Amino acid sequence: MTEAHETIAGQVIEDTVVSAGEPWSAEVRKGDIVRLVDLEGQQAVDFLCYDLAARSDRYNAANTIKLNNSIYLGQETVLWSVRARPLMTIIADTCGSHDTLYGCCSIEIDRVRFDKENSWGCQQNFEKELAKHGMDEKDIAANVNFFMYVPVREDGHIAISDGRSKPGDYVDLRAEVDVLVVISNCPERDNAAAGYKPTPIRTVVYRPDS
Ligand SMILES: [Zn+2]
Repeated sequence: MTEAHETIAGQVIEDTVVSAGEPWSAEVRKGDIVRLVDLEGQQAVDFLCYDLAARSDRYNAANTIKLNNSIYLGQETVLWSVRARPLMTIIADTCGSHDTLYGCCSIEIDRVRFDKENSWGCQQNFEKELAKHGMDEKDIAANVNFFMYVPVREDGHIAISDGRSKPGDYVDLRAEVDVLVVISNCPERDNAAAGYKPTPIRTVVYRPDS
């Protein structure tokens, strides 16, 4: 639990352990940094962000893939918006690769994929958390999956593989404008997204030393 603190160079504004399967959100000021810590490893963190002042200008997966020339996110990757503006930049990454393609789990897709009646999913987490900000399902876009490994083969085949994140791996995201960040600590138990066993994560918002 101490590894995240030891390397934070700045003033901690919020430091939260997000329980397994739970959502979290925060308004983050321009220049501040959000650290996501995968406390136990192999835990997908479904992630959305919005320009706080103009929330329809939100994270856009296609623009992010195009402007980074990659389907994976990592060090120095910029999260681009619908209007092709930088929302956040990954300034540290101890894991190395994060997914842009696979979207989120839901009660409904688990019914189709696994023929199971699961009680909750990231879609439901996003809806619950967005409601706190006066937003709803229309505000959910194709999301980032931090700490989730989804290799794409040359023939286009795609599937979740075992996560590569180790306990304590983290990403630091610097806000390039004031943003709203909304995450779902993925509750999925039926694939490798959360290593078949959802675990807690830690979120730290901090203001870097100038
Ligand atoms: Zn999920």
